[in-house]
Amino acid sequence: MPRSSRRRVVPDPRATTLATRAVHGRKLYPHQSPVAPPIVQTSTYRFRDSGDAIRYAEGDPDVYVYSRYHNPTVQEAEERLALMMEADRALVFSSGMAAITSTLLAAARSGDTILSTPGLYGGTYRFFRDLLPRHGVGVRYVRPDRLDTIPGMISSRTRVVYFESPTNPSLGIVDIVELVRRVRKAPGGRRVLIVADNTFATVLNQNPLRLGADVLLESATKYLGGHSDVIAGVVAGPAGFMRDEHTQQKYLGGCTDPFAAFLLVRSLKTFELRVARQNENAMELARFLETHPAVARVMYPGLPSHPGHDIARRQMTGAGGRGYGGMVTIEVRGGARAAVRVCDALRVAVNAMSLGGVETLVSIPVYSSHIRMSARELKRQGVTSGMIRISVGVEGIDDLKRDFAHALPGLEPRSSRIS
Ligand code: PLP
Repeated sequence: MPRSSRRRVVPDPRATTLATRAVHGRKLYPHQSPVAPPIVQTSTYRFRDSGDAIRYAEGDPDVYVYSRYHNPTVQEAEERLALMMEADRALVFSSGMAAITSTLLAAARSGDTILSTPGLYGGTYRFFRDLLPRHGVGVRYVRPDRLDTIPGMISSRTRVVYFESPTNPSLGIVDIVELVRRVRKAPGGRRVLIVADNTFATVLNQNPLRLGADVLLESATKYLGGHSDVIAGVVAGPAGFMRDEHTQQKYLGGCTDPFAAFLLVRSLKTFELRVARQNENAMELARFLETHPAVARVMYPGLPSHPGHDIARRQMTGAGGRGYGGMVTIEVRGGARAAVRVCDALRVAVNAMSLGGVETLVSIPVYSSHIRMSARELKRQGVTSGMIRISVGVEGIDDLKRDFAHALPGLEPRSSRIS
């Protein structure tokens, strides 16, 4: 039989593992096209004739018109992410914050309320505190250890329930199944949109959609991008909501550019390898730091000492998840001054904001993600001045352990191998 007439059996990409979906997307059969997606670096598209414009005006989604609305390179990233996240559809944004703000503005209207857990990325919290009220949207907070109070906190005005788990930076755990159950049981709870910021866990370790959430979002700047060279965000969810979300993206203009989308696709191919290694490194580093006398507290959901460990085990390793993530937060004795000394003494780990890259990064939350917050707000978020947030990379674990051993006061002499 000539090659060209052989029937192709096209496998269903949804039946493959997350790693395969991340590497191949929908391209699971041999055909002629570049292996890496072309960067369609254009703002607009030539019409064959005005028939294309008319078809677009009549709602034909296949007519390309303008890159704020759609772009083939961006769509390649979106297709892959939707498959990885097991969602009807995903949209890529210009940043995680663009993803978050567009989602909430798509869901909530003036007069509505958002119910959130208090452990949040500082940028999200400040958006809740400083900007949403100007749009007439209020935010109430429910403690993650008092999810039983949710039904009493949901009113006819509650439009969204929002949470992170693990939380930035204190690595608190929210019981997602329990939260969903409580929301759905509340009068009117069925029409509430449950939105999860899954940035810290990543979809390799936890898929909130499988656990009952409606919408999953991540800062793709972090583990999805993975190389500290791209700023992007992703939102994934059901087709109906994602239509509104796309409209919102068009209005607010938080689309991503084709080159960032190309970098993201490049990164997704190694997503599983990177995050699996980060899971392993983080667990080993957390265990090591737990034994160090200069460390008052290690927050890592994989440690049995973590108050949310049992829940984390269930939702991060029990429901198809692969581990507890690459984020470890420590509290050093001596407050912010001691934290500064440690961060400045590290030689392998990089003193830089952000997280999720292949290189280990450290930052001090009170000087980075959690600035411009009162003592009361920091307390509610579980943030203390001596905290160091460690985004564990893929370096050799022995180098990382040695690096922290010599940077932390009062232990081993500085290693001659790290200078
Ligand atoms: N969500 C979490 C948990 C984050 O840590 C961050 C940034 O650090 C964001 C959202 C915002 O993402 P971006 O910086 O890509 O806008």
